[in-house]
Amino acid sequence: MATRTPLMAGNWKMNLNHLEAIAHVQKLAFALTDKDYEAVEVAVLPPFTDLRSVQTLVDGDKLRIKYGAQDVSAHDSGAYTGEVSGPLLAKLNCTFVTIGHSERRQYHGEDEPVVNAKVKAALKHGLTPIMCVGEELSVREAGNHVPHTLAQVDGGLEGVAAESVAGLVIAYEPVWAIGTGKVCGEEDAQEVCGAIRQRIGELYDDETAQQVRIQYGGSVKSGNVAKIMAQPDIDGALVGGASLDAEEFVKIIRFRD
Ligand code: PEP
Repeated sequence: MATRTPLMAGNWKMNLNHLEAIAHVQKLAFALTDKDYEAVEVAVLPPFTDLRSVQTLVDGDKLRIKYGAQDVSAHDSGAYTGEVSGPLLAKLNCTFVTIGHSERRQYHGEDEPVVNAKVKAALKHGLTPIMCVGEELSVREAGNHVPHTLAQVDGGLEGVAAESVAGLVIAYEPVWAIGTGKVCGEEDAQEVCGAIRQRIGELYDDETAQQVRIQYGGSVKSGNVAKIMAQPDIDGALVGGASLDAEEFVKIIRFRD
């Protein structure tokens, strides 16, 4: 069975300017030790405008923190005003990019074909997608959270090869738990994350299913992360609000302590 290194990623959303970003990453770097980096992979996902500053800091101080973007264009270059492409992110040595975050789905109308095109664009340029899926409250209340989320997985991965899927990250983020303080119970989170892994096994094969990392996201904090991370199919956390507090994010990273 594959051993999956947990990925603890901080989604800063539209917070922290480039100067604040430098100070924040410095705080994280000062607090984190080799033991932390041996136990988990740590990443920050700042706004686009911070990425060059974060890159300079990470390269200059040879930090082990990884970083990435919160979105990527489906296109490589050209007349797409306001978009940021895979080649531009790859040039900044980004490791990750979140795709299909619920806030992109909600406010920018991103659907499965868009998510699928962006996943392919990221992979083409050597970026690791963190593909976000998850249901709204009404869907959960109707008991349709598993089929709804699996349909997002199917659509997002259509035409993506097994070797690419093995290396990517899927973040299960129930929309009703994002930024609301309502954390999904660990058994409920496991139910969906387990179903996602099973679906990857059906779409691809067992080996791919055992390799893909599945994160939980939605009001993760130091007080609830240990129970979530104890679930067999949860391989990390995508942390929004709580990742803006460096001390709190370090406590989340040290969920085993
Ligand atoms: C997120 O933005 O992906 C997220 C999970 O936010 P929060 O942790 O604030 O709920």
